[in-house]
Amino acid sequence: MGLLSLGTPLDWPETQALASHVRKHGIEQLLSLWYKVRDRRGDRVLWGDELEYIVVCFDEETKNATLSLRQGEILKVLAESHADSCEKIQDGLEDQIPTFHPEYGRYMLESTPGAPYGASPKELSAVERNMRMRRRIARRHLKPNEVPLTLTSFPRLGVTDGVFLDDPTLVPNGKASQSLFLPDDIINQHARFPTLTANIRKRKGSKVAINLPIFVDEKTPQPFIDPTIPWDRNLFPGDSEAKEGAAKPDHIYMDSMGFGMGCCCLQVTFQACSIHEARAIYDQLVPVTPIILALTAASPAYRGYLADVDARWSVISGAVDDRTPEERGLKPLEGNKNGTRMRMNKSRYDSVDSYLSLESANRPEYSDNPFPVDEGVRARLEEAGMDPVLSSHFAHLFIRDPLVIFSEMVDQDDSSSMDHFENIQSTNWQTMRFKPPPLGDKIGWRVEVRSMEVQVTDFENAAFSVFVVLLTRAILSFRLNFYMPISKVDVNMLRAQKRDAVGQEKFYFRKDVYRTRERHSAARSAAHSREPSVNGNGPTSGGSAAAAGGSNGPARFFEGRYPTPSGSRAASPAPWLPPVEEEYDEFTINELINGKSAPADDANEDGASSSSSSSSSSSFPGLVPLVSSYLDALDIDVSTRAEMDAYLSLVSARANGTLVTAATWIRRYIRSHPAYKGDSVVNQEINYDLCKTLDRVERGEEEAPGFLPEGYAERRRKQEVKEAGGAAAAKAAAAAAAAAEAKKDLATANGDGDGEEGKPLSPLTAAAAATSNAAGVGAGVGVKDDGRDLMLQAAHADAQAKKQADGP
Ligand code: ADP
Ligand code: MG
Ligand code: MG
Ligand code: MG
Repeated sequence: MGLLSLGTPLDWPETQALASHVRKHGIEQLLSLWYKVRDRRGDRVLWGDELEYIVVCFDEETKNATLSLRQGEILKVLAESHADSCEKIQDGLEDQIPTFHPEYGRYMLESTPGAPYGASPKELSAVERNMRMRRRIARRHLKPNEVPLTLTSFPRLGVTDGVFLDDPTLVPNGKASQSLFLPDDIINQHARFPTLTANIRKRKGSKVAINLPIFVDEKTPQPFIDPTIPWDRNLFPGDSEAKEGAAKPDHIYMDSMGFGMGCCCLQVTFQACSIHEARAIYDQLVPVTPIILALTAASPAYRGYLADVDARWSVISGAVDDRTPEERGLKPLEGNKNGTRMRMNKSRYDSVDSYLSLESANRPEYSDNPFPVDEGVRARLEEAGMDPVLSSHFAHLFIRDPLVIFSEMVDQDDSSSMDHFENIQSTNWQTMRFKPPPLGDKIGWRVEVRSMEVQVTDFENAAFSVFVVLLTRAILSFRLNFYMPISKVDVNMLRAQKRDAVGQEKFYFRKDVYRTRERHSAARSAAHSREPSVNGNGPTSGGSAAAAGGSNGPARFFEGRYPTPSGSRAASPAPWLPPVEEEYDEFTINELINGKSAPADDANEDGASSSSSSSSSSSFPGLVPLVSSYLDALDIDVSTRAEMDAYLSLVSARANGTLVTAATWIRRYIRSHPAYKGDSVVNQEINYDLCKTLDRVERGEEEAPGFLPEGYAERRRKQEVKEAGGAAAAKAAAAAAAAAEAKKDLATANGDGDGEEGKPLSPLTAAAAATSNAAGVGAGVGVKDDGRDLMLQAAHADAQAKKQADGP
């Protein structure tokens, strides 16, 4: 969660009247910063993750799992604990102490490492421990019946057939969201959040309306008309929207921002050494965002029903879609109704629409999406010397209105504040975010990867984070080229959310990702050369400059994409490039992650027939093998390599189906629960058992075969004993181990003696054994068992890991 200004939010009419003011000054603030930071170089590779949790509360009497709304109290004690630890710490390690942040849902927490990590494998091997430490700290500050689950969507958020909040007196009658399902009490009480909620609704002219296709099971009524929607409620004018068509048959209808912003995700932010590298990393990760969304899909149930999708993306995109009907193209554009200025093809929460790099590999044809821009913003940025590609990026973000303005923040000094800029930037919630350095000298150009769903265990969260980090390293080291038309990335985004996308869908991806080979094949394809044509989908604008026509059309936008060495915009694209349609193909996730060899008769590397590519003939090196090759080139000790391999194995196994995604696992769990009636309903009992099971699985108290690698539970329990320190933890872990063993015995009824020493080591156990002493966790021994000391412990452990890290 970025910006949390304090103050009094203006009401919507005032906010809307100030939209141009915020945009204008936001851009002046960006420019003031730009002059200072555009040539900034030499920042080291740093990165950090963000993990979001929902705090679930168990009622053992009623067997219900509800959402705890104690975010405020929990964050307060966590902050006190943080301050206390900082005070105690004498050795300048304050910035190693993990931090907790508020999130939109009042049942959510977010944690980040105290300080960003480096990217050496040694440092990467400390990430999982850091994540576990954060979870442990959160846990220690919760009530005994509360647990922090890293669960992307709470299956019974907003049900009306039972209680889903820890305070059953709360009812959905809030003015901000006017939701039929969600009380405003679930919203973070900081003025920003209810105001955001209300203003999105006001700007849009109706409540948000999300319709997820229901998963049709054996006994799901068809058509499915949701009996739990209070169709005839008459509390707010918007109450009639549901029956007037906002709620579609055969869909799960959701009418509030909380359904999306109340989902949890896993994000990763990288610092690049310069703006050029940041732009390159941003671009190369754009085509990867749908792939990692499909792989991390973890949210198959919403509002008490199984959905026919596995991921949250369309829910959250719809949950903050503030576009007016005119902007959405449902009504003709006329006048300036509710701030309408132009057609907008996407919600503020959506995939990105342009690549950013100035390198020649970034062909104009790749940016083939409709691309509305704020013409005034673009003109101002270009006039100030920003190149057209980056100017257009920001001008695209700045088509949006500010949604919340605090009265105290209206007038700012544009040379010393970034608040207006951040106001627009941080409410463009896209698959990737390009983050300029904040004011002050400490932090450089960064990019954030935002598509992943949060995983049930920190092993998985670390695995996917580390995979993305290593992939960026491989991209930079091997100068990989993943460019492809951005419209195809969008097709992939839609496919990535489908049920079992990993097993069932194909995804567009660039075939030839090596630049040297690309040059060869480009030369080979010379016979097919043609001038790259701009296909008419250049930037559009409702602003007056565009309305004047002509001069701001696509051609002008794409000028300058191929700068001459001096940086001026003159050079035109190389004429021998093949049509972009020949550059990509469709692949399964398994092929993309694990690689695909060409069929035997087409395996000739020089393949003169490359231009006549049929979809089945393309080979692909695989993202995991690429990362492995990168690791091979480094001098890494055996234990660290084993840990990296354990992470890569997880990604690989999820891709080839040896292990299923969290979404598939949760869906199966629900469908095979004795209380499931085959009617798509996730009732209270199933939800309770699911949440309990997820918690036990995370702790290593219960195996999850087919979902987590063999050996996960044992490894997790050992970590707990070692890291939590103290007799209590050891006792708890021993009890957990006993419980797990008992369960296993019951499950397998095949006791072949469980002497540790007799068993072959699973890959995970081997990795754990190999690294058991590598990361300096010993600081935990004898440390008292409360949150403060855990924070200190985290700081010391991190510092130790850093000391040990050998940077390649
Ligand atoms: P937001 O919510 O705005 O995306 P957060 O502050 O929650 O941002 O998280 C930012 C992430 O970036 C954290 O994981 C943090 O560790 C990481 N980070 C902080 N400084 C840097 C840096 N200089 N380079 C890269 N990552 C950083
Ligand atoms: Mg967050
Ligand atoms: Mg954050
Ligand atoms: Mg973030």
